[in-house]
Amino acid sequence: MKLTFLGTRGNIEASSSRHGMHSSLLVEYLGRSVMPDCGETWLGKPGNISPGAVVLVHGHSDHAFGLKEGAPCPVYATGYTWAEREICSFPIRDRRTIGHRSTRDIEGTLLEAFPVAHSTRASAVGYRISAGRVTMLYVPDVVFIEDLNSALSGVRLYIGDGASISRSMVRKPGDSLVGHARSGPSLPGAAGKVCRR
Ligand SMILES: [Zn+2]
Repeated sequence: MKLTFLGTRGNIEASSSRHGMHSSLLVEYLGRSVMPDCGETWLGKPGNISPGAVVLVHGHSDHAFGLKEGAPCPVYATGYTWAEREICSFPIRDRRTIGHRSTRDIEGTLLEAFPVAHSTRASAVGYRISAGRVTMLYVPDVVFIEDLNSALSGVRLYIGDGASISRSMVRKPGDSLVGHARSGPSLPGAAGKVCRR
């Protein structure tokens, strides 16, 4: 499995030449590819990369708005993400729905959509991604993972939330919640949940 981090920037103003593109990862295995995330700065560009499929973790702009003008390939997302106001208006011809905790073979790579807490207004998942004998967990935006043991079972690589380094960044407007767990120094991404144990 070959991973190319096409972009890792969140929905923030600051950018640099090495940190300018919104979230997007290219996973290649045996000549086929899957692209988790396609943030807004990727608008018009997925065709240049020619992924076999795009998969979305949630409907925020820095993860999904690169598809505003459609996609050159099938796009997978949960039913919650497809139902979001902006996402449902995108002219994506081949929409495929992936259920929580169900595993799909997408371009020869197995992806399991794993529900995580990130925003009560934008239901989010991470993906357990398996190819050959390797499994990794991709959760670019996360406050906590309820079933952490299952999420990390057999995982060789964890790709987590880097939006907050030293302390969690969680907002609770009204009765909702949105935010990011701290990335270190303990278990990245899942720290908000782990530290209470
Ligand atoms: Zn988000």
